[in-house]
Amino acid sequence: ALPEANGDFFGQMDTLTDEERAVALTTRQFMHEHVAPIMNEYWSRDEFPKQLIPELRKLDLLRKIWNEDGTRKPNATVVEGLVTLEACKVDVSTAVFFGVHAGLAFASIALGGSDEQKAEWLPKMMDLEAVGAFGLTEPEGGSQVSQGMRTTCKRDGDSWTLRGQKKWIGNSTFSDLTVIWARDVDTQEVRGFIVRAGTPGYRVEKIGGKIALRIVENGLITLDDCRVPDSDRLQNVQGWRTTAEVLRLTRAGVAWQGVGCAMGAYELAVNYSQEREQFGKRIGEFQLIQNHLVHMLGNVTSMFALCLRLSHMADSGTMKDEHAALAKVFTAARCRETVALARETFGGNGILLENGVAKHFADTEAIYSYEGTNEINTLVVGRAITGLSAFV
Ligand code: FAD
Repeated sequence: ALPEANGDFFGQMDTLTDEERAVALTTRQFMHEHVAPIMNEYWSRDEFPKQLIPELRKLDLLRKIWNEDGTRKPNATVVEGLVTLEACKVDVSTAVFFGVHAGLAFASIALGGSDEQKAEWLPKMMDLEAVGAFGLTEPEGGSQVSQGMRTTCKRDGDSWTLRGQKKWIGNSTFSDLTVIWARDVDTQEVRGFIVRAGTPGYRVEKIGGKIALRIVENGLITLDDCRVPDSDRLQNVQGWRTTAEVLRLTRAGVAWQGVGCAMGAYELAVNYSQEREQFGKRIGEFQLIQNHLVHMLGNVTSMFALCLRLSHMADSGTMKDEHAALAKVFTAARCRETVALARETFGGNGILLENGVAKHFADTEAIYSYEGTNEINTLVVGRAITGLSAFV
């Protein structure tokens, strides 16, 4: 019998604790049972399958990452990374749904919320009874959003008025709450708000026509004199510092998306190379195809090792912005190379949705550009290693 495709060539899973491996296996099983059978249909429909939410709830994954009071478990980033890895091997969109809710939105409240706000939202979010979204990027630009934020908030007695637009906001078309970041017109401070679905002046339009992550629903949010009570302002936000802290935490997760997406594509390519015949041979017998597969496996193995180390650093408190940024830059680029080789291994069949690899190929384009583009994360690392900033 031919060996089974296995993207964990160096047995890195064996270095994990039993509990960590169990989370990875539970996620793997969930993806195969619940997501794989429907993902191509929902990809074509440009829609998130909401029926996955009660099934995901049963896995109780957030409690393996967070404590109820908003502190993180000692191995939270490793666990988050493994969930992301296993989800992305099958479908990156599912990982993004989870990452936006359990990472960006949850972390904003965990880091920026008062005890009352945490008590109100975190248990419901852990149970996926309330789904979160995170609204930072604006139509005029994501890279410069810290300096160039145009969405404003203005205090008016016991409430605030929000004005502006937020673009690309994942989950926002059906979220129960969206964390909105806005600049205070009076103090110029960045503030965070919990905006509840249905608040007057808050409107979401689904962004259609995407060629990547079509199962994630991204929204264009318009805040048209949207009034939010002061009790829904995140009380412990320390300006942009808190937003940056949330992004630092979640950037490690995006680095893991590249690992999972590349590993999934690699395994599909190995399987295909063992079956597909040309010139009377299985294509895996051709040296050039083996070269593709080995190149992919080298990428996947190094990405996996890098992200495990990154997560251990995050969990021990030694990870800095530049570490997360380098991991994100590296895995996104290696993922892009890997999925292209995997797609190529499939020949023409590689562009058909039904063969799986096309979705990985397309989704990589989103991984490449969000949570800090390749260029911006590169400049973050460049600044750290030279002490010289190429951007303000
Ligand atoms: P721009 O900032 O316009 O950049 C355009 C190009 O210019 C890029 O190549 C960039 O690297 C380059 N560039 C910009 N400045 C510099 C510089 N100083 N030096 C060199 N090059 C530079 N945002 C949210 O808030 N919430 C979400 O849930 C969310 N989900 C997303 C999901 C998807 C599928 C996508 C595509 C995006 C999502 N985003 C979300 C937004 C995402 O974070 C931004 O797209 C990203 O930060 C890049 O911003 P931009 O698209 O405006 O590109």
